[in-house]
Order: sequence, then C-alpha cells, then structure tokens
Amino acid sequence: MIMTKERYAIGIDLGGTFVKYALVSETGNILFDGKLPIGSSATREDTLSIIEQSIKNVVDKAVEKDCKLKGIGIGTPGVVDNGVVLGGADNLDRWENIDLGTIYSSKFNMHVYVDNDANVMGLGEVTFGAAKDCTDVIFITVGTGIGGAIVINGQLYSGFKNRGGELGHLTIKHDGIDCNCGGRGCLEAYASTSALIQQYADKTGKDVNEINGHYIIQRFKENEPEAIACLKDHTEYLGHGIAGFINTFAPQKVVIGGGISEAGQFYIDMIKEVAFRYAMPDCAVNTDIVSALLGNNAGCLGAASLVFKTHKYN
Ligand SMILES: [Zn+2]
Repeated sequence: MIMTKERYAIGIDLGGTFVKYALVSETGNILFDGKLPIGSSATREDTLSIIEQSIKNVVDKAVEKDCKLKGIGIGTPGVVDNGVVLGGADNLDRWENIDLGTIYSSKFNMHVYVDNDANVMGLGEVTFGAAKDCTDVIFITVGTGIGGAIVINGQLYSGFKNRGGELGHLTIKHDGIDCNCGGRGCLEAYASTSALIQQYADKTGKDVNEINGHYIIQRFKENEPEAIACLKDHTEYLGHGIAGFINTFAPQKVVIGGGISEAGQFYIDMIKEVAFRYAMPDCAVNTDIVSALLGNNAGCLGAASLVFKTHKYN
C-alpha cells in the first residue's frame, strides 16, 4: 500500500519591519510560525540574513516534526521577476537587483519561489481563503496604499516580465490629485486608508496623526455626518475602480483585504452597491465581492501557496 504523505512548504512574508515565517501544509494548516524584527537601520545584508535565519527556524522545525518540505515561498515588496527583486521596495535598504531565488535555493537546496507581496496575498486567498475553488479572481488590499493581484485560470498574472498588475494605480480621475507613483488621479490616491484619513481630517479639522481607519468606522457607526460622508466617498471610489476591474476581467470573485476590510459586512455591501451599479451587467453576472479571510496570516500562507501552485510534482 502506498501512503500519500501531506506536503509542506515554508512561507516567508517580508514586510517593512518584520520577517514573518511559517511551516504550512498543502491544506493550509500552519504548524509553526514566528517573526523576526528588521531594525530601522538594517542594511540589505542584515535583511538577507534575517530571512536566512527565518528559513532556518522553519527547516529545523520541519526536521523535528518529520515534515517533507517541497520548497520555500517568499513574498517581498517590490517588482519581482523570475526570483529576482528588480526594485520598487522603498522601505528596505537597496532592495533591488537581488536574486532571492538563487541565494536561498543554493543555501537550502530547495526550490524557491518569489513574488510581490500583494500578489502572494491574493494567491493565498485563492488557494486557502475567500476565493477557494475559484480560478479567476481580483484581489485588492486597502491600507497605506492599494495593492492588487490578478489571478487568471488559477495563476498570477502581472503582464510581460511581471511589470504590471498595479491595480491601485488605475486612473479614476484624469485631472486628479498627485499619487505616490508619480502619476495622478490613481485609485490609491483616492481610496487607500491613508486617503480616507486625510479626507476625514480635512473635513473635521482633526490631526491625521490622531485618527485611523478604525476611528472613522466607529464614528460612522455612531452616525457622525462627516464620517458618513467620507466613508461614502471612499466606497464610491473603490466601487468605481472595482467596476472597471469587473468589466476588464469578469472575475468570479473580487476579494478585498487590508485592515479596513474587517470593518464588517456593511463595508463590503457599500462597495458592492456601487460596483454593481456601474459595472456592465453582462460582465458582472458571475462576480461576487467579498472580504478576505486570511487576515494576518495572508502573507505566509500566500507565500507557501506559491510553492504548491507553481511546483510540478512527479
Ligand atoms: Zn499611482
């Protein structure tokens, strides 16, 4: 009798301040996890060795638990192509032209798969979370900025040489305000949580440093007119952007992640109402809009899913 043993992967989630790591089974169970801090003065070399230590922590645990590892998945800020971070990760020292794939596959003698952090979170939701069993999915994460992932036929899609997929930088106002990307009028500039906070501060005269997304949601629930107006605008912007994504990709699900997506079903419903009002009905007929499910574990689970989705087993 042949026993089929469950497969495992290492998920590494590189953020601006921490490296999170986890030992993940093919069914999405986290058997072990942890995180190591990246100091604010960390050099590129420091960050690389913190990732190496994180991987080593998981390898040691996998050996202890007799888990057969299939590979290492890494989610990193920036533009990634074929295992190489090309650039665009402003919060990490000289995080450009680094071949993470080769560095860690030679150190640990395992397959290493690397992708952009938002892509990885989106793939995680498709593999283990809110869009499980879907093949065609749009994921956006709403936070300081707006990140996105496009999944087509079960695979991440980011255009030629992985240069695209920047859903937060869809133009929603051609003569709009400046965006961090150098363009103007982008979805991110209007609908990120940072933008919502700025709009609320402008309306109320409050200090941006004393408010956050949670605060505005609380005031909204207490029927404060300014909070209602700002959240209505915020969900209008998001709904318009999502209507464009629906018309372009006709996804089965649009998954919304990021801290504010956990505000409650009313938040998703407000976005849904706008998105389905403006999307072409024929494009939207198979689409649902839902909140993400993986929360704080999205990065590690998504990174591990890169291994399971990409690796060809024999
Ligand atoms: Zn932009």
